[in-house]
Formats: sequence, C-alpha cells, structure tokens
Amino acid sequence: MKNLINKAVKTNRLSHSEIVEILKDETCNEYLFKAADYVRKCRVGDAVHLRGLIEFTNVCGQNCLYCGIRRDNSLVERYIMTPEEIFETAKRAAGLGYKTVVLQSGETQTYSIDTLCEIIKKIKTLDIAVTLSIGEKNEDEYRALKDAGADRYLLRIETTSHKVYRELHPEMSLMKRKACLHFLKKLGYEVGTGDLIGLPHQKDEHIADDLLFFQEIDADMIGLGPFIPNSQTPLKDEIGGTFEKALKVMALARLLLPSANIPATTAMETLNPNGRLIALQSGANVVMPNVNDTTYRSKYQLYPGKICLDDGAEKCRKCIEAKILSIGRTIATTKGFRTK
Ligand code: SAH
Repeated sequence: MKNLINKAVKTNRLSHSEIVEILKDETCNEYLFKAADYVRKCRVGDAVHLRGLIEFTNVCGQNCLYCGIRRDNSLVERYIMTPEEIFETAKRAAGLGYKTVVLQSGETQTYSIDTLCEIIKKIKTLDIAVTLSIGEKNEDEYRALKDAGADRYLLRIETTSHKVYRELHPEMSLMKRKACLHFLKKLGYEVGTGDLIGLPHQKDEHIADDLLFFQEIDADMIGLGPFIPNSQTPLKDEIGGTFEKALKVMALARLLLPSANIPATTAMETLNPNGRLIALQSGANVVMPNVNDTTYRSKYQLYPGKICLDDGAEKCRKCIEAKILSIGRTIATTKGFRTK
C-alpha cells in the first residue's frame, strides 16, 4: 500500500482499482495523509488562502434529498439579502483582509442575471476575486456573469454515479451538471467541483470514479465533505459519511491534482472539532470562513451542527487566523489563483 501511495506522490496517477484499494485499506491512512501534506507543501506551499463566504439567499428551487434548504423544506425561514447588503458584506470581508469572496446561494431566479452582474461589478471595485456558487445556469448566463467580472465558479458534481445521482436529485440530471462544468471551463472560469462522501448507496468504486472525473476535467478547486444527515430532509435516518473517509478522499484528490486549491471544509469541522486543521495537514490549502451577519447564519443550514452560528465575521477571521498560525502555516496575501 505504501508503494502505491509513493507512486502517486511521484506520478500523480492512480488507476481506478488502485484508488479503490487505498479507500478500502485502513492500515495506511496516516501515511496517506502525510503524503498528501508533503505534496501540498511542495506544490502549493504553506500559505493558506482564506475565502470569505457570503450565503446571500437560502431560497432554492431544487429539491436535493440531502440538503436542508431544499425547496420542500417548509421549516426553513427563507431570506433574501438585498444587493446593497451583499455588497456591504463583501466590503466588510475586504476590510478584514479577504482577497476573495464566495457568493453562494440556493438555486433561484430571485435575482436576475442583470442584478447579479451589477453586484459582481460593484464587488470587483474592491479589488478582490469573486467566486460564484449559485448552481446550474445556461451558457449565456455563465458568460454574462464572467463578463461582469466573476473569476471562479464552484459546482460540486456531488456524485458521478448515475444511479446515486438520480436517487438524490429529483428533476435534475447528471449530464446537465457535467455540461455546466464544461461551459464554465470553456468560458475561462477557474472551476471547482467536488462530491459528498457517505451518500446512501455510494460505493468506493463510485468515489474512485469521482476522483478520476476531477482529474479528467482538470478541476482548479476540489471541495469535499462528509454527507451529514439533516432531520428536516427525506434522508434524516441515513448514517452519513465519516470524517476519516472524507479526509482520505481529500488526500487522494491532492495526490491526483497536486496544484489544485483544496478547502478544509466546514462540514469536516462539524464532525471533528479540529477538522479544518487536520484537513490543512492532510492536503488542504484553503479555508472558507463565513462572513455573513449572524442573523442569517442559522437560516442557511444545509446540515445540522453548522459551526460558528453565533460568531460575527471579525471573530471568525481572527479565530481561523490564530489556528492556522498555530500549525506553522501562514495566511496568503494574494488572490490565490491556481498556479500549475
Ligand atoms: N446551490 C449551489 C450551492 C449548494 S450548497 C449549488 O448547487 O452548487 C453547497 C454544498 O453543500 C453542496 O454542493 C453540497 O455538496 C453540500 N451539502 C448540501 N447538503 C449537505 C449535507 N446534508 N451534508 C453535507 N453537505 C451538504
């Protein structure tokens, strides 16, 4: 097993069956995490990129079975931030030293493309990078958003298994989601994708397919997290993913895509109080602290146990900075685009 991991460190390649073998093995996890940390250090360095996350509306037209803000969850109090509020939040983030803001939301037509473009253009005057995470749009819409100044786009594939995808995403299609990722690449965005680990009926073979898919599309960013069952969704009685498994998949992503930007995700911290620091020492080089006002945080709960619900943007910034410095890493001062 160690030979296989060493090979991946040198070549950044693993076959489907080799990935499955590593996923099923439980004896070499620490070795894998150390290998991913080594590749991270050599390829993207010690600086951690902080991206300020703005969850600007929880209104969603999709009905993903795992997600707390799915359309049919009537227990959620929906909110819509105004363009001014979104800009003010971005301005505060820039003031706190963030070089990127991530605008994330449910999938909704609440904001027209023109309105979104205006918001992006205004935020770009702050001289920071803008990442969008607002779901599926058509090619023309993605183009307009890019022309307005958006730099990056996050759209997790969630799973590349047709069977698992179909079961979890009523009215959606895996083909369409893949097409969106191709449009985004073609338009020149830095493209992020990723998956959920521990979905019902998901097998190690599917996860291996996912990892090879990230490599095939040459993902610039890869966001991975454990699936955490939400009591307000149809998947409330499922077991969900584990921290360790999500960490293994993340470490493998670092070996296969050595120069990608890989966040230590919030869902990992939900399952382990030191989750983000452990992830940063197992291949990750990005953290996405929330910069929203506390009034909105509790309303954007995709899964239970969301961290820092009562903390303001400033507190989150200081807290994560201290944690990062405590493990001998630094805070990046650049916008943090991928350098291959
Ligand atoms: N609507 C946007 C943003 C989705 S929210 C889009 O479609 O891309 C961001 C991510 O949260 C999702 O991609 C999903 O992977 C994750 N998520 C949703 N529900 C979750 C749950 N129960 N546990 C863990 N992660 C979840």
